[in-house]
Amino acid sequence: MEYYSTHINKLIEQLSRLPGIGAKSAQRLAFHIINMPQEQVEQLAGAMTGARSNVRYCKECFTLTDQDVCPICANPKRNHKQIMVVENTRDLAAYEKTGKYEGVYHVLHGAISPMLGIGPNDIKLKELMHRLQEDVDEVIIATNSSLEGETTAMYISKLIKPTGIKVSRIASGVPVGGDLEYIDEVTLLRALEGRVEL
Ligand code: ZN
Repeated sequence: MEYYSTHINKLIEQLSRLPGIGAKSAQRLAFHIINMPQEQVEQLAGAMTGARSNVRYCKECFTLTDQDVCPICANPKRNHKQIMVVENTRDLAAYEKTGKYEGVYHVLHGAISPMLGIGPNDIKLKELMHRLQEDVDEVIIATNSSLEGETTAMYISKLIKPTGIKVSRIASGVPVGGDLEYIDEVTLLRALEGRVEL
């Protein structure tokens, strides 16, 4: 790509580092950005740096938020004794979209994967166990139905069982290996309602 200016090359190179963006898409995006009005480009760049520097983990559930405590945890109308464990903030958003879940969440930020070298200490599991020292009625494990998600679910249920807190797993209506965020709301609700105690 010697025939582009250094600035264009740099932009293409940065864009192509993003997930799902190949060399061709990176070029297309780079030229799109160059043709955008200056002001719009500044807004885009500002949104990126703003999100990166202001977004942090919620102190309670560890979802991504720009406050100390996320709006869900801060809501007194939610059932704080029911905790749904999800792999990431996108999964949380998928359940929130159903508008039917009234409990709170715990975001693990990953799943246990011996193959990728991701162990229990690499996800927010200690933090979950810490939360369970408070008054909790039920933990609903809603990790994905992938191998990693199932491994994580089993691991968590074994940890929680001795505490006497009810542990359940969402029903397997969720396609195997399916990312929760791509599953429609009806299927998610059915999975939640059909959860089984472990
Ligand atoms: Zn929260």
